[in-house]
Amino acid sequence: MRTAHWQTAGEEIFDVLIIGGGITGASLYGELCRHGWRTLLLDKGDFASGTSQSSGMMVWGGLLYLREGDVLTVLRLSRSRDRMIEELDGWAAPASFHYIPTLKGGPSSLLIGAGLGLYWLLGTGRRRLPGYRRDFAETALLSQNVHRGAFCYEEALLTSSDARFVLHWLTPHQPPGRAAVNYCEVESCEYARSDGLWHLELRDRLRGVTTGARARLIVNCAGVWADDLNRQQGIETPYRHALSKGVYLGLERSGEHHSPLIFDMGDHDDVMTYVPWGPVALWGPTETAIEDIGEGLAPQSADIRFLLETANRHLRRKVGPEDIVSLRCGIRALAVDRDYVATRYPLELSRRSIVHPERDLPWITAYGGKLTGSRELAGKIGRMIRHRVPPSLPALVNDAESPAVASYAFPGLDQPVAAPRWCREREFCATLEDYLRRRTTIAQWLPREGLGRTGENREAILAAARELYDGDAAAAGEAVARYEETVTVRFDKLLGEAV
Ligand SMILES: Cc1cc2nc3c(=O)[nH]c(=O)nc-3n(C[C@H](O)[C@H](O)[C@H](O)COP(=O)(O)OP(=O)(O)OC[C@H]3O[C@@H](n4cnc5c(N)ncnc54)[C@H](O)[C@@H]3O)c2cc1C
Repeated sequence: MRTAHWQTAGEEIFDVLIIGGGITGASLYGELCRHGWRTLLLDKGDFASGTSQSSGMMVWGGLLYLREGDVLTVLRLSRSRDRMIEELDGWAAPASFHYIPTLKGGPSSLLIGAGLGLYWLLGTGRRRLPGYRRDFAETALLSQNVHRGAFCYEEALLTSSDARFVLHWLTPHQPPGRAAVNYCEVESCEYARSDGLWHLELRDRLRGVTTGARARLIVNCAGVWADDLNRQQGIETPYRHALSKGVYLGLERSGEHHSPLIFDMGDHDDVMTYVPWGPVALWGPTETAIEDIGEGLAPQSADIRFLLETANRHLRRKVGPEDIVSLRCGIRALAVDRDYVATRYPLELSRRSIVHPERDLPWITAYGGKLTGSRELAGKIGRMIRHRVPPSLPALVNDAESPAVASYAFPGLDQPVAAPRWCREREFCATLEDYLRRRTTIAQWLPREGLGRTGENREAILAAARELYDGDAAAAGEAVARYEETVTVRFDKLLGEAV
């Protein structure tokens, strides 16, 4: 399947080339394919291997941004949330959230109640009316001396995972006329005014082969890497990204835990969330301003210690490094003016999204954005493209459907996951890590990235790898050995340092 997409990438003249296959690029790809643009999407790594695999999976109206008076973002995100609930049946489901005021510092309960009332109104009353509750199912999880009750209100959650949500926009669209290629590096990219086309040299990072590609217009959806990509092309815009690192701990989920809990931290207007997701509950995220992308790609022991300390302050059950099932780390790309000087705590920065078209070049850059507002962002970019490059294919009459997934049982998981061969043949899955981390939840729901506390799942991972590598036992064995080495450094050693 990857090969067919790669071949198409080299053959067609595309109306639009999207660089970046996170949720922003993938939603745009779905939108453009549906409306008849010949579209090519490229990612230098796996699809969703950037920030889009590390979100809290909350489909929410941006309650926290109300504290900064960012009413426009709240209006926009609330509408996006409700549209996702209405139109993406099976992907986003309404969920009761509990906002838990702190007894020390932070806004008063009166203010929180009034804020939630306003939030509900800004969502034009489409969600359930918020209310205060002294007791609820999750009261048993809370440390008793720092809380007294909670405000219950309604938002939504992704039902599957953020990484699979990205794939949802890619898998229905097949060549010809549409192609999506992961592990694809842009080696060179030049615009020729003579034929009005971008000419690119692409390299398949897995097979080492190269091909040429042509497109009329490029959209930069590279998330936190968007500024680098613009710089490489000599493009300067009035905007840039400020970067904020966010880390979550996956802890074992308790039987009483049904709804997301939002804990007011009292400082910096900050909150911690505790979100149930399959057999784990995500505690976090951190919010750390960083200067350099390299600083934010992996959690550090200080992030883990901070998260354990806050969890132990707010949760009744005491947790240590040995209780951590999994880790998630991502970098928020926050749209700021180019001359912004980083003086503010990242949570105070607007979560706005900006679409900037170059005046003299067919090149558009997407800044900021959230998983929740990704479809609206895609729609906005689509309208901008229509003015410059009309679609060259007929629009699809019906929305293309994601194909039904072939399921596979994995030890330790109650629910079946997608089968390895299926993922290879239908979901662009190329490596063992793609399979364990993004095509399935194995690496997030089972300890030590799926291997198990004592390595008890090694044989099951080897069996999955054999299927993924089409029965090639040597390739599967090597992939599992490499994976074990990575987990030793990325998980075992890191948690050892956090003690
Ligand atoms: C901790 C955390 C929690 C969050 N929680 C939520 C939440 O609960 N709800 C919500 O709505 N939002 C949430 N967000 C925000 C949301 O996850 C992001 O806004 C979203 O995932 C960004 O998607 P993106 O496609 O813009 O970027 P990315 O997912 O980073 O995608 C960019 C892609 O571009 C590719 N790329 C980069 N450079 C190149 C290049 N030169 N050539 C080819 N490919 C390239 C990368 O490999 C990457 O795959 C959260 C973010 C964080 C960090």
